[in-house]
Amino acid sequence: MDFSNIVRPEVGKMSAYVPGVRSQEVKERFGVENIIKLASNENPLGPSPKAIEAICLAAKEGHIYPDSTAMKVRTLLAKKHNVAVGNILLAAGGEEVIRLFCGTFLNAGEETIISQLGFGLHFRSSQMYGGKVVTIPVKEDLSDDLDAFAENITDKTKIVFVTNPNNPTGIMNSRDEIVKLLAKVPSHVLVMIDEAYFEFAVEHEGYPDCTEFLEQYPNLIILRTLSKVVGLAGIRVGYAIAHENMIAEILKLKAAFNVSSIAQEAAYAALLDEEHIERTILENRKSLEMLKKFFEEKGLHYLPTAANFIFVDLGIGSQKAHEDLIREGVILRPGHLWGDIAAPFTRISSGTVAETQVVIDTLEKYLSK
Ligand SMILES: *Cc1c(COP(=O)(O)O)cnc(C)c1O
Repeated sequence: MDFSNIVRPEVGKMSAYVPGVRSQEVKERFGVENIIKLASNENPLGPSPKAIEAICLAAKEGHIYPDSTAMKVRTLLAKKHNVAVGNILLAAGGEEVIRLFCGTFLNAGEETIISQLGFGLHFRSSQMYGGKVVTIPVKEDLSDDLDAFAENITDKTKIVFVTNPNNPTGIMNSRDEIVKLLAKVPSHVLVMIDEAYFEFAVEHEGYPDCTEFLEQYPNLIILRTLSKVVGLAGIRVGYAIAHENMIAEILKLKAAFNVSSIAQEAAYAALLDEEHIERTILENRKSLEMLKKFFEEKGLHYLPTAANFIFVDLGIGSQKAHEDLIREGVILRPGHLWGDIAAPFTRISSGTVAETQVVIDTLEKYLSK
C-alpha cells in the first residue's frame, strides 16, 4: 500500500534519521576486534557509578509509572540554576526538548533561523511542523555570524536557533555576541540557545552562562543535556530552562510519562556526582591537548573548540578518511554530512587519554602512507 498521499505532507517530505555507524556493525563487516568510536561526543568514561547504582535500584520499581512531573530532578536542576521548578522542562534527551518546543510554537509556513552548519535536530524539528528553515552562512573561519542571524529575521520568523558552542565546528560565540543578538530579536520571536556542551565550554574566556539573560528575555529558552558531560546518552535525559509561562505551554504537549523512572533516578544521581563530571572535563582537556599537539606537528588545520570534540582537516577529504579509518577500527564523524563547506573536515570526539593515543597512532600511520 502507498501511504504517500495519506501521510502529513510535512512528514512525507522528510527522510528518516540516518544514524552514525555502530561499532558492532564495523566488527562484523571488517572483522576488526577492537573498535574505537569517537564519533558521537559521548562521555568516554561511561556513566557515573552512582548513576548505575541508581538505575539498578530503580529497575526494582519498574512496574510503577514514573513521576510525570519529574519533580525530584527538576527541583535539583532548579536549585542548581537558581530558578523555580516551573522554569524547568525535563525530557527524553535534548532531542525531545527541541521537538516539543517546535511542536508547541511553530506554525506551518513560519521561518526558523539556523546556522548553515547547524544541528540536524533543529532542522528536522522545524520540518516536522512545516517550518521553513532559513540557513545562515558561516563566516570564513566557519564560526557563526550572529549579526547575520538577526539581519535575517522577517515578520515570518518564529524561532532562532543558536548552538553555542556549535556542533560540528566546536566554535563558541562570546557573551558579547549573544548579548547583541538578544537585543536585536523582537520579543515575539523565540530564541533557543542550545548549550549541549556547556560544562566543557564554560572554562573558556568569554563564554556566557545564558541563564543570566532569562529574566530580561522571556522569549529565550536554554537547552541542556545529560548526554554529553554527564554521560547518560543512552538513558535519554535533557532539559530546558525558560520562562515559566513558556514551559507551561510546552508541558501541554509533553507525553505524560516521557522520562522513565530509570532515567529520572539516573539523572538525579549523575547530576550529584560532581566528581565524575570534573574527571570527564579533565580527561577531555588532556585528550584535546594531545590531538592539537599532534595536528600542529603534522601541520593539519583544526578549528578552535570549546566542546568535547575537534573539527580537523586531515587533508584527504572526510569521506575517504572515514571509509579508510573504519577498516582500522576507528570510527570518526565525516564532515561531508554537513555539506561541501565542511567536507574537508573530520569531527573527532575526545576519548579517554588511552583511546586518543590509539587514534593518534592510527592517524600517524594512515597519514604517512
Ligand atoms: C548532543 C546534542 C544535543 C542533545 O542530544 P540528546 O542526546 O538528545 O540530549 C543537542 N544539541 C546538540 C548541538 C548536541 O550536540
